[in-house]
Amino acid sequence: MAGERVLVVDDDPNIREACVEYLKMNKYNVGESKSGEECLQLLKQDNYQIILTDLMMPGIDGIGVLKEVRKEYPQSDVIIMTAYGTIENAVEAMKLGAYDYITKPFAIDELGLLIKRCLEKQRLAREVDELKEVVNLYEVSKAISSLMDLDQLLSRIIKLATDTLGADGGSIMLFDKETGKLIVKAASGRREDMVIGRKLNIGERVAGYAAQKSEIVKIDGSIKEDPRFCNLEQFDGIHSGITIPLLRKDKLFGIINVHRTEKKDVFTKKDVDLLSIFAAQSAIAIDNAYLFSTLQQEKEKIEAVFRGMEDGAIITDAQLNIIMLNSSTEKLLNVKREECLGNNLLEFITDFQSSITWRELEKKEEKVVNFDLVRTKGKALFLSVVATKIRNEEGKLLGQIMVFRNVTDERKEEMVKRNFLNLISHKLRNPLTTILGYLPFLQEKMKVLGKSEKEVLEVIEREGLILSSHVDKLLMFTLLEREYLEMEREKVNVKSLVETALEMINTLIKVNQAEVEIDSKLGDIDQVYVDKLKIQNVIENLVENAIKFNDEKEKRVKISGHSVDDKFIQMEIADNGPGIPSEEHEKIFQKFYQVEEYFTGKVEGIGLGLPLAKRLVEVHGGKIWAESKLGEGSTFYFTLPKTE
Ligand code: ADP
Repeated sequence: MAGERVLVVDDDPNIREACVEYLKMNKYNVGESKSGEECLQLLKQDNYQIILTDLMMPGIDGIGVLKEVRKEYPQSDVIIMTAYGTIENAVEAMKLGAYDYITKPFAIDELGLLIKRCLEKQRLAREVDELKEVVNLYEVSKAISSLMDLDQLLSRIIKLATDTLGADGGSIMLFDKETGKLIVKAASGRREDMVIGRKLNIGERVAGYAAQKSEIVKIDGSIKEDPRFCNLEQFDGIHSGITIPLLRKDKLFGIINVHRTEKKDVFTKKDVDLLSIFAAQSAIAIDNAYLFSTLQQEKEKIEAVFRGMEDGAIITDAQLNIIMLNSSTEKLLNVKREECLGNNLLEFITDFQSSITWRELEKKEEKVVNFDLVRTKGKALFLSVVATKIRNEEGKLLGQIMVFRNVTDERKEEMVKRNFLNLISHKLRNPLTTILGYLPFLQEKMKVLGKSEKEVLEVIEREGLILSSHVDKLLMFTLLEREYLEMEREKVNVKSLVETALEMINTLIKVNQAEVEIDSKLGDIDQVYVDKLKIQNVIENLVENAIKFNDEKEKRVKISGHSVDDKFIQMEIADNGPGIPSEEHEKIFQKFYQVEEYFTGKVEGIGLGLPLAKRLVEVHGGKIWAESKLGEGSTFYFTLPKTE
């Protein structure tokens, strides 16, 4: 109990000293002053819990001291010492807020008891206050966890803050990034409804000042008395206020304000501390609720887009269990949302054949995978699917978003085109074969024919071959466009593949008097595991190009190859033709692409040979490319697998 500070104020030195002596003896920390003026001076320097003051003093008397203490130091208590006969004054002092009075002369122990009682009251009041703060802070925390609605949360917080601090009103403003203004979002007190929605610029009035400076502002008494704000209009009866910036991660996002009218005491430093704790707690809650409401809005937006999508869309978890699906999916897959949610996607697409197995999809590293689903039962339905993997920051798969597009019409059209081309090519090919087939028969009779007839026959043969090669290319095109190529793979000798291919284009080689050399080492390299006809086709195309684009007198082609590693061999087909400009090296593998010069029809071709060769090499897992310099001939390379 010792150490509490008591200030004894009396102009009568005897009484003053007696009190001081006694209190010191009882281990109080005692101050003394002989007048009201001196007492107020001392109070400015030091804090005293109890001011024991004489009532009648010249100058500032006991009532004057009492009023000042009540106003400036509301936590301190005043005990009045009064002479018998001035009891009415003592009663008045009680009304003004004195803790008690004691009539002189008094037994010194009586004073001791009174002081003890007063200190005990203060201790209890403090405890109650603390408890109240704790309860209120607890309330705020509760609000944090239970209120995610921002408006509700803000009005709850401002009400709690006003109640806890015994304020007459208050408001919470949030900083609006778009307009750069503070907007009142919640308020309490008389002017509550009027102020909501009011906007303030940063720097404007007290709240704007606190926001701009990021500092706490405490106004004691009228705003007019504060040099910072003396030019501002004072709002009705507001007499004292605390304004605290709400910060989150050092960034201002709002302001909390409380105020009292002149009927109440001004706010103390302790009130500021309390509101600061409150503000810090509330900032977390407001930030969370703000985040939550933004997320909620975003989620609603996304859901609306998701629902309204014309394409089917499904969101699954990592195990392909369906989390969300839209109504277009219900129609496309002929399923019901309620039946699907929470269940595995694979259960609902049993009637579809997929162009990629689900295990393959799972294993693929790419973020986005495209594949097709084709319905195997009932009416034809082709779905093109884009599956996007969703991963967390550590790369762990969280789920997938799959978008399904109905491409039945497009696919059907493609099929019709392909079938048509296929049909036409076959229909053209048969009579052509017959015509060319009869040519040797006529050539037999060459000896009896005249010169011009001979020439006609040669033209027929040459043009017939060109036409036949075009028809072959068209057939190849239909092959190129086909999604799936059936493969008949077997182990074959590379040299024999090359020889068969050359036989197929024997006429072209002969007509052009080209010299095609097969490297002697080709017979020694490992066998390849390929579809014979397809790779022969690749070789035919490359040798044909090497000859037909070659305008040298002696057209030379060299075919060689070597083993790269235990998986692949590499083939090379080199010519002494005109070469290909480097910027064209990649383009020539595109469909219908021809280097400008040949586009004019100088050399027969339609730009399908290389894309076809590329497709055929790639279905075997190999690669194809060209190396060439203008004027120095070209070399085409491709790799082929040795095993599966
Ligand atoms: P096409 O032979 O039907 O024109 P390709 O796809 O086979 O079509 O070839 C595309 C283009 O690449 C050709 O038009 C030609 O310009 C060029 N090209 C291909 N091979 C050679 C080659 N060996 N030498 C020079 N140019 C070539």
